[in-house]
Amino acid sequence: MSYERKEIAIYGKGGIGKSTVCANLSVALAQAGLRVLQIGCDPKHDSTRLLTGGRSLPTVLDYLRDAPADRTRAEDILGTGTLGIGCIEAGGPKPGVGCAGRGIISAFEFLERDRVKERYDAVLYDVLGDVVCGGFAVPIRREYAKAIFLVTSGEFMAINAANNILRGIRNFDGSEGRRVAGILFNARSLPGEEERVARFAKAAGLPVCARIPKSEAFPAAEARGCTVMEMDEYPSVRRIFTELAGRIAGELPLYEARPMTDEQLEACVLEGRDPGQTASAERDVSDNAAERVTERTAAQAETERPAYRPPLYGCAFNGAATTAIHLTDALVIAHSPRSCAFYTWQNISSPGRRNLFHRGILMPSALSPNLTCTEMGQTEAVFGGTEKLRAAVEEALARRPGAVVVVTSCVSGIIGDDAAGIEALSTPETPVIVLKTDGDIAGDYMTGIEMCLHGLADKIVDRNTDLRPLSVNLIGETGVANDLDVNYGIVRDLLGQMGISVNCRFLGGATTAEVRRLPAAPLNILASDSEDNRRLRTWLEQTYGCSFFDGCLPVGFRETSLFLERIGDLFGCREKAEPVIREERRRYEAEIAGLRPRLEGKRILMTTINANMDWLMDAAEDAGMEFVWVGVLNYLGTELCVSSRPDRCPVEEITGRTSVEARAEELAPDILLSNYTSSVSAGDAVTDAIPMGRQVGFRSGIPVLRRWARLLEERREGEWVRDRALFEKYYG
Ligand code: SF4
Repeated sequence: MSYERKEIAIYGKGGIGKSTVCANLSVALAQAGLRVLQIGCDPKHDSTRLLTGGRSLPTVLDYLRDAPADRTRAEDILGTGTLGIGCIEAGGPKPGVGCAGRGIISAFEFLERDRVKERYDAVLYDVLGDVVCGGFAVPIRREYAKAIFLVTSGEFMAINAANNILRGIRNFDGSEGRRVAGILFNARSLPGEEERVARFAKAAGLPVCARIPKSEAFPAAEARGCTVMEMDEYPSVRRIFTELAGRIAGELPLYEARPMTDEQLEACVLEGRDPGQTASAERDVSDNAAERVTERTAAQAETERPAYRPPLYGCAFNGAATTAIHLTDALVIAHSPRSCAFYTWQNISSPGRRNLFHRGILMPSALSPNLTCTEMGQTEAVFGGTEKLRAAVEEALARRPGAVVVVTSCVSGIIGDDAAGIEALSTPETPVIVLKTDGDIAGDYMTGIEMCLHGLADKIVDRNTDLRPLSVNLIGETGVANDLDVNYGIVRDLLGQMGISVNCRFLGGATTAEVRRLPAAPLNILASDSEDNRRLRTWLEQTYGCSFFDGCLPVGFRETSLFLERIGDLFGCREKAEPVIREERRRYEAEIAGLRPRLEGKRILMTTINANMDWLMDAAEDAGMEFVWVGVLNYLGTELCVSSRPDRCPVEEITGRTSVEARAEELAPDILLSNYTSSVSAGDAVTDAIPMGRQVGFRSGIPVLRRWARLLEERREGEWVRDRALFEKYYG
């Protein structure tokens, strides 16, 4: 090993004596004239005790937790030990909470930031080797240790830990790296230990760089609060460390990490069998596995089509939180960093914000969700966030909401917070419901929605609630479309005219009491037909015996008429549907007649996903408009189904942006319509978006027609340049 600064990691199983070895080696290096820094990476934070006369140092992690982030300085945690040796203890959380590995990462980031190592010639990392997770592996990343020693006794578990460390090094270095310096054999005077260590060393292809005998020198030094190297007695022990320091200061040969499989290790160390080619066998096993995976992947590619995956809107935390806020009297606590909650808040409010903001309308307060955040930071990531969550839940309970819903993030999941235990804080009046989504550990956005609905129902629904005969539940309204409440108002009014009430919206704006009585409604209606809603339907049928309407909330005049007639049949009040339909027809026709003079003859070119658009095309045709071409983004590769009338207009699958541009230029439409963000423009055609969520009921297309009439008039009067300016702002 020849480089400017010697950086050495000393790994070993907990309790094996690596801190003692490390401290003696630090002193030996300092006696050789090197400026030495020893960094203890064990949550026990006792690595440097022998160097500081038994004085314990503030740990980096305690310091980072307590000091204001902008005032932290390395000097505050850098201790000075014997012979000027720099002493640092990374520290860690209490056992059972937080993440010690994350702690090591935070400590190293801090030391890097303040360039602490640059003041020294040699840096020794004293690292716990029982667990080589990402955090404890930081010292063996290439930017840190240049040489690694494995401290082991002759006990099998100590050798096993050493073998695990070789695996960690192998993962970083592959077969090219040469960073293992060898084994430091800390003898315990056990029968057969010399042979066991020798067999392991031989099989791993490593030298035993030092044999440290079991000696009374170590307890004697410890009793004096110093290292053996500082004592006059025990010259033979001191010589071992002096020689080792000499090797490190000179040209230390380094070796490849060649770990064994568990079976090979047992055979070699315990049974004394010649390991032969064992050292390469672990690599062979993994190489073979890699080949099998390659073969399988190639075979799969031949035969399998990629499964359809819905668009990714966010993580499960995000899906659960955006769903839980629809429990209107609940307080939702995001157990997460602020950024996760902010992202969710944006997701909830942004569709509304965009529309209202650009049209100069103030945001209604309803767009500010009932969502708070525990604001997890570095302290919680390292020391655990359960206590902070408990405090947040207790504060929420004091406000007497209908329920407290906790949604957990990746950070909470990774450090293993006991979030589920927080449910014990539930009171007779207020359930505390923990949705352990753990960010994206549980899955994606849709998984989060499902976990939320199941979790809330499990904890809130009362199976013994009394039947409410003339009522329905609306199921699966979740989403962030602007028209959620508009749709609900339309359905409630239509059903209300037939004497039928809405018992519960699960979940689109319901109180805890309404969710509790979910089984009271004899009929459930899915808001829309999606795979997720179909799964929810099956779950409600199986879990609560819910009965479902065979269809969804209707969109457009034709569907809504049929819907009311069938609901009337199911509740035995068909005669009540007819006057409602008659009156709605009269209103619809009057509105169409009012719009017709402004829209008749106008031509529409539409690009859309592959979904039925009859509701909009019917209304447009009723107003005398014409669809000149429909381009379909066919993600699923299924049969095109934008209309039940194939002769209505030309319908083609979109093959690329140019195919839409060419059609727009050729057909010169008045309106370019799309349901995704499109930058295609054509002459002075106005551009418009198909509503993200469709308005249910008889007059679904009317608001869209009204908007087109206004846009076309603004175009004629030159006012549309306002929207044109907006268009240019984003797509110019
Ligand atoms: S994936 Fe994790 S980090 Fe990202 S927003 Fe979700 S919870 Fe937060």
